[in-house]
Amino acid sequence: MGVPRVRMAVQSNLVSIAPMLTKLQRDCATPLSVLRHVADAMADDMRAGLAVDGGSDLKMILSYVDRLPTGNEKGLFYALDLGGTNFRVLRVQLGGKDERVIATEFDQVSIPQDLMFGTTEDLFNFIASGLAKFAQNEGGKFHLAQGRMREIGFTFSFPVKQTSIDAGILIKWTKGFAVSGTAGKDVVACLNEAMERQGLNMRVSALVNDTVGTLAGARYWDYDVMVAVILGTGTNACYMERVDVIPKLQGLKSTSGRTIVNTEWGAFSNGLPLTEYDREMDAESINPGEQIFEKTISGMYLGEIVRRVLVKMDEAGALFGECVPEKLSTPFVLGTPHISTMQQDNSKDLQAVGSILYDVAGVNSDLSARRIVVEVCDTVAKRGGRLAGAGIVGILQKMEEDSKGTISGKRTVVAMDGGLYEHYPQYRRYLQDAVTELLGSELSKNVVIEHSKDGSGIGAALLAATNSKYEH
Ligand code: BGC
Ligand code: MG
Repeated sequence: MGVPRVRMAVQSNLVSIAPMLTKLQRDCATPLSVLRHVADAMADDMRAGLAVDGGSDLKMILSYVDRLPTGNEKGLFYALDLGGTNFRVLRVQLGGKDERVIATEFDQVSIPQDLMFGTTEDLFNFIASGLAKFAQNEGGKFHLAQGRMREIGFTFSFPVKQTSIDAGILIKWTKGFAVSGTAGKDVVACLNEAMERQGLNMRVSALVNDTVGTLAGARYWDYDVMVAVILGTGTNACYMERVDVIPKLQGLKSTSGRTIVNTEWGAFSNGLPLTEYDREMDAESINPGEQIFEKTISGMYLGEIVRRVLVKMDEAGALFGECVPEKLSTPFVLGTPHISTMQQDNSKDLQAVGSILYDVAGVNSDLSARRIVVEVCDTVAKRGGRLAGAGIVGILQKMEEDSKGTISGKRTVVAMDGGLYEHYPQYRRYLQDAVTELLGSELSKNVVIEHSKDGSGIGAALLAATNSKYEH
């Protein structure tokens, strides 16, 4: 790989590439029957995961969030967000019923690559020092009530086995993180130790998944929000569940009779249309056999799947002419933002496609090669968007079955966040199409997918307020 090889023909050999494209499209196809199967399997796996821990691919993690923000929350709260690409800190001054959000401020830094492969201590030191710097510059709009400590809502976007609202053990890393020594540890304890090392006196009042933060944040403004989905670097969904249909809860009570369940649907794997490219990517990943749904539909992987297809096409039919260039052979050089940008190119000669291929992948392309590349991007994005839509319908279906028809006929809002959804219009449209195909045009009118941008930050701060140590 990567070694220039002289080829007989410099012209790409469309005769051998066209059948590869056809096969890719066939392997990625998501006709209604496949969507239906995925939605049904999602609902079944949810049920199995609610019955007993380890009962299915879906962990169905109890969030310990059973009281949602009401709008009456008051005071100064902080949020921390460690997820995929960025680390964010935020503070918000809440003014209660009439004033709601008086002021917010946030800061964001991208997570240095080496920290993703480093030690637990280094990662949490980075978080705590970012927080310390941010907390130092608390301006005049923010005011902490006397005798209180600054409280934090900690959004930690990885599978965590919650043991209470403010504690939880990392089950495993996802999204390319491979920090040593964190799995099996309470991540709040890790943060507390790092804050102590920094001499920072704040306390975590709520530990939440990003989906849970998004649901809480969106519901603060709209009471019909029942589900939250993240489609970004990784993917996941959570939803409002009735306590009486969670067998594994065993006696744990919720004052409201409901609780948020974090599905961890990224681990779903049942009946997905997968290709040789997916299998090879998975085998070479740092978590083989895990997060298969995530690897099929989320932002970290779509560009990489496309890249793998292009390499094979080039090897088999000299898609890009003379040689397989080194750059194109590098895993993850082609990002999902690139494939989205290429799909937005409406020009006659696909100029933008050509430049991206040249700049990012180091290849020259003629118009027919560019057309094929766009087709490949579309095929992979279409499968991803449609499967994500089927997953959402699976959740709605499960809720509907247990509520015996009290959801259908009612406006139901799915709060959505993540860069993939936000920045990839075709993907978004494919997702919506699948929801409409599955539910039918009448029912799907009640299901509103609402982009709730960065809702998880405010959501986590709100949950810190709802679970404040000073209120009860
Ligand atoms: C994690 C989830 C998270 C999702 C979106 C997945 O890789 O397992 O906990 O919610 O990414 O950030
Ligand atoms: Mg995030």
